[in-house]
Amino acid sequence: MKPSGEVMDPSDPVVVVGAGPVGVTAAIELARRGVSVRVVSAGAGPSTTSKAMGIHARTLEVLQRTGVSDRLVGLGLPLHSFRIHDQRRAIAELPFAEVPSAFPFALSLGQDVTEKVLRDRLQEAGVEVEWGTRLVQLEQEDGTVRLTLEQGERRHEARASWVIGCDGGSSTVRRSSGIAFEGEPFPQWFLVADLQVDSPVTAGEAGRSRTNMFFSDEGATAVFPLPEPGLYRLATALPQDAVPAIDDDESRGGGGDRGAPTVDLAALEQLWQRRVGRPARLSDPRWISPFQFNSRIAASYRSGRVFLAGDAAHVHSPVGGQGMNTGIQDAVNLTWKLAAVLEGAPEGLLDTYEAERRPVAEDVLHDSRRNAVMASATSPLAKAGRSLALRTVTRVGPVRRRFLAGLTMLAVSYPASVLPGRPAPTGSRPRWAPGPGHRAPDGDVSLRGCPARLLGLLAPHGHALVSFDAGRADHDNSLADLLPEIRTGHDLVSEIHVVVVRRYRGHGKNEQSGLSPEEITEVLDPTGRLHDTYGASRPVMVLVRPDGVIGWRGPLAPSGLPLLRAVTDASLPPARDSHAHPRRLPT
Ligand SMILES: Cc1cc2nc3c(=O)[nH]c(=O)nc-3n(C[C@H](O)[C@H](O)[C@H](O)COP(=O)(O)OP(=O)(O)OC[C@H]3O[C@@H](n4cnc5c(N)ncnc54)[C@H](O)[C@@H]3O)c2cc1C
Repeated sequence: MKPSGEVMDPSDPVVVVGAGPVGVTAAIELARRGVSVRVVSAGAGPSTTSKAMGIHARTLEVLQRTGVSDRLVGLGLPLHSFRIHDQRRAIAELPFAEVPSAFPFALSLGQDVTEKVLRDRLQEAGVEVEWGTRLVQLEQEDGTVRLTLEQGERRHEARASWVIGCDGGSSTVRRSSGIAFEGEPFPQWFLVADLQVDSPVTAGEAGRSRTNMFFSDEGATAVFPLPEPGLYRLATALPQDAVPAIDDDESRGGGGDRGAPTVDLAALEQLWQRRVGRPARLSDPRWISPFQFNSRIAASYRSGRVFLAGDAAHVHSPVGGQGMNTGIQDAVNLTWKLAAVLEGAPEGLLDTYEAERRPVAEDVLHDSRRNAVMASATSPLAKAGRSLALRTVTRVGPVRRRFLAGLTMLAVSYPASVLPGRPAPTGSRPRWAPGPGHRAPDGDVSLRGCPARLLGLLAPHGHALVSFDAGRADHDNSLADLLPEIRTGHDLVSEIHVVVVRRYRGHGKNEQSGLSPEEITEVLDPTGRLHDTYGASRPVMVLVRPDGVIGWRGPLAPSGLPLLRAVTDASLPPARDSHAHPRRLPT
């Protein structure tokens, strides 16, 4: 034991507990920013179950700068629509092609493969997972965290500057930190099975590129194609007569199988016939897991130098496929802030993690519970209401697009963020246009004559200042006048990547402005659609955070600068003497 009175040694690593998708994402994000990080995992090796098989557009967007989205897309199967049937009748169809993202689909990919892609990226960043290393308990004292780790029979102590608990629903980090896990179990058992399916529903190209959901009097059944030919994920409520007693184990985020019923293939075929209403031959079961889920959320996401992320912070129904996606987005939100604080940004930045991410999980809990109840509705009135709601979603364009934005998580925003940056200065933002706390919308641009997407061009680290010229000839002079002001006090050349979005080719470009091509990336918005999306009828600047969220927006004028300064002061490290403190090279 170390003597008390000890203070944090800045060379102590950040320790990430847990090597599931959330822990590994957190570790990559820290390591690629040059932060010293350890990842310990109780498991003897990587998990081999396919649990989360859906990656949503927002997750792929936030992982783009991590450098893994293209790899995931390369291995996964894009699902282009979501069709809902009541008995044998299709009542709703949601086309993902309408999703305004570089990833207009739901990506089907087993969680074991997603985790492998993330671990490979972590290895490239120079970090290996320490398998077979269980956290037994942790204590905080005088600015340091002491961890008791167990490897087989051997126990030892380790120190951390900060700890991120990504150790799943039964999190030791959460328990050791005395953080309550508030909520309750859902009183229904479900079953997931990955198997070969031969059925009219799954036949042909359409059957391979669409998720089908079937409502029946026995409950809902979802059928998702998996990347391997002929393989599908079947998810359904278990028949009441196969249900064991409910227990109140708070750890169950899903996948728990203690005391769980067993279901054989013949029974599953009969169940399919009754609930899907068409024949099917089921074979080659790879994974059959009955589970009961909890709906729980950590009372707090932070205790001193300890944070919670992923299932350690929230567990809920897999309906809607949001668990892993929410956790990965937690990790990306937290880690750029922690890396900035380790470089000298104000510690208050870390308070925005819980302020931003906990309400998102509260919504996911609420929605997934409501959807699970709605999907299992059997009364004629409830079924009629459900059909009416789904028909409205399908037929009314704005309602459908809002629903899709929710499903793909593009709608996730942070109205309660405590970061400054709002309200946007008067006149810089129409009411409907995206502002601070919203996702920075993506869109088509042209880069030196080649098609590109705005978000894909942003530098992999740090913030981006996107300046829309709105076709104005004086844009470059105004920006050149403002940039030195904007950059005072921070290493903004390295921390902020400037992107100029021009409305017309060559127009507005001013060679005399002093903007050097090395400092800025120029793109063309050939159709004007991106200007419209951002409500940029006049020149406007938008600060995009490393997690793709708008941190500030304002006019291209000195009046916007005080608020921009407040945001950069709150979220960026101060300027450093590059000779005294050489910046660690990101990987
Ligand atoms: C059947 C099913 C289907 C699902 N489908 C979807 C879906 O389609 N989409 C979606 O987004 N989500 C889905 N989920 C949820 C998703 O699987 C989880 O949200 C996700 O695994 C959470 O990741 P995590 O990294 O937070 O935790 P986990 O994946 O649980 O990883 C926890 C890690 O912590 C380690 N650990 C635990 N205790 C300790 C300790 N004391 N010391 C050290 N290490 C420890 C474990 O070994 C493991 O490495 C599904 C879940 C189930 C069960």
